Amino acid sequence: MSGAADVAYALSFADADRNRLRVTARAEQGCGTWWMATWIQGSYLIREYARNVESVSARGSDGPLGVRKVAKDAWVVMCEGTGAGQPVELTYTVAAHELTVRTSYVDDAGAVLNPPSWAIVPENAEGPLTVALTDAPWPSVHTPLPERDGAFVATDVDALMDAPMLLGTTSVHRFSVDGVPHTIATLDEQALWTHPRIAEDVQAIVEAQRDLWGPLPYESYQVLNALGARGGLEHDDSTLLLADPFAARMDADGEPMDADAYRGWLSVVSHEVFHAWNVRRMRPAGLVPSDHRHEQYTPDLWVAEGLTSYYDNLLLARAHRINEEQLLAAISKEIKAVVETPGRKVQPLSQASLDTWIEFYRHDEHSKNQGVSYYRKGALVGLILDAEIRRVTRNKRSLDDAMRLAWARFRNDPAGYSPEGFRAVLSEVAGVDLQPLVHRLVDTTDELPLDDALAYFGLMLSPVDVEGLPPFHGAELAPEGGLLRVDTVARDTPAWVAGVMPGDELVAVDRWRLHGPERLDALPVGPHTWTLARRGRLLDVLVTTRPATPEPWEVAVDPEASLTAQRMRRDWLGER
Ligand SMILES: [Zn+2]
Repeated sequence: MSGAADVAYALSFADADRNRLRVTARAEQGCGTWWMATWIQGSYLIREYARNVESVSARGSDGPLGVRKVAKDAWVVMCEGTGAGQPVELTYTVAAHELTVRTSYVDDAGAVLNPPSWAIVPENAEGPLTVALTDAPWPSVHTPLPERDGAFVATDVDALMDAPMLLGTTSVHRFSVDGVPHTIATLDEQALWTHPRIAEDVQAIVEAQRDLWGPLPYESYQVLNALGARGGLEHDDSTLLLADPFAARMDADGEPMDADAYRGWLSVVSHEVFHAWNVRRMRPAGLVPSDHRHEQYTPDLWVAEGLTSYYDNLLLARAHRINEEQLLAAISKEIKAVVETPGRKVQPLSQASLDTWIEFYRHDEHSKNQGVSYYRKGALVGLILDAEIRRVTRNKRSLDDAMRLAWARFRNDPAGYSPEGFRAVLSEVAGVDLQPLVHRLVDTTDELPLDDALAYFGLMLSPVDVEGLPPFHGAELAPEGGLLRVDTVARDTPAWVAGVMPGDELVAVDRWRLHGPERLDALPVGPHTWTLARRGRLLDVLVTTRPATPEPWEVAVDPEASLTAQRMRRDWLGER
């Protein structure tokens, strides 16, 4: 362990096969309070990491010291009568059994470690903090932290919290952009992620980001890729991803065997690399300085996440990793998700951002009725703002210019940007006051003016084909052991009006016993008696179905678009 460190952690994997991580933390001044993070930056939910910690004990220069738990996430090391300035060694065990991009997971094959979920930190820690691995049985370790004297070094607590670690048998790709080294490391015992195309595609994505923003903001970058359910989390100099294990298998021609899964992974990579600028280094005021223990509030996650979502696929198109058709399909998907969310008429975007702590990561049967995603609606706001800036400047400027000006103005600003500050940048680039438009898009529940934005690019919303769609009732039904359970009921639909509720069991329609949705879907449009079981009692409600008339959500090229509009679209796609 490095003697110069303010805090030196040593991680032991002796209990890895029981999903346990053993931690020793030696602090030069370790008497007093130690704390643990409750959440991880970028994923806005109190996750209570201390719930996975057990058997905390301490030793001082002269032997064992008392440890008192004083809060859910805090401990006090008691040094009364033994010298307050002495070094303290804290030892504890962390249950590391959750494989996600925001928790820690250890087994005998490898480990995915996120410091907020394992590090207990002395209150006075300033840094540097070091992490040594005492008995890791695996050949490789990947983390953005530099290694010195056998330990990984974080300059301060924020840097430690921002540094995931991947250990195990990895497939590794390396490339450089403008001389800046990039590494893609995948926990990959079966060697499924070895195709050179992976590096070529990620390099093209990084170059498209550089073309938008300007010089790369980091000195090196690591894509840490674990295999499991899909996910991603942004960091200053890295991203930790979870990917479908089979997403990167290529055929003999180097084409992905599961093109959707592979493009999905590239899209997440694009999203997280964009965050290296937007949110990691250009931060909303509410997120600075970092508070790892308490909620931090900003109304601007539509900028941090929404605009990032707007650009993730657009930059894939500019990098020629997806074609125009695939980009339009991705935008259609965002529109579909928003128009099928009745909560868009209840919750403005800026409020969705504040409510993320209680809503976004806690989806339940009411979520769609009361809230809207700042990712999806935020991405559409990006499209609208982009079209509007291009329109009012006669295509001399775009949202790209606004992102660059915001970057020039707010990068590494210790105060972050205010909602007004970011909006002022949009107006400044447009040369006209965009505040009323932004206010309408972000602070109200008005429907988004998508038609105008799409028309600017020679695109249109095409009507959805209703042929073959069953009559519409608005309840989402899930077959469950021969029964039909009501999962959700969309606001203001026939089922909602009739009083059908999530959790009801749909027993019969017009007295006919139901075991699946088929019989229900075969009935004609009009009033039908639904027999429900609710809290053990049967009741009848009258649901008057109507013809299926979904709102248009599919984006198509307008065959009658002007040559100017077609040129705008090519320009938008970077095909100049
Ligand atoms: Zn994001």
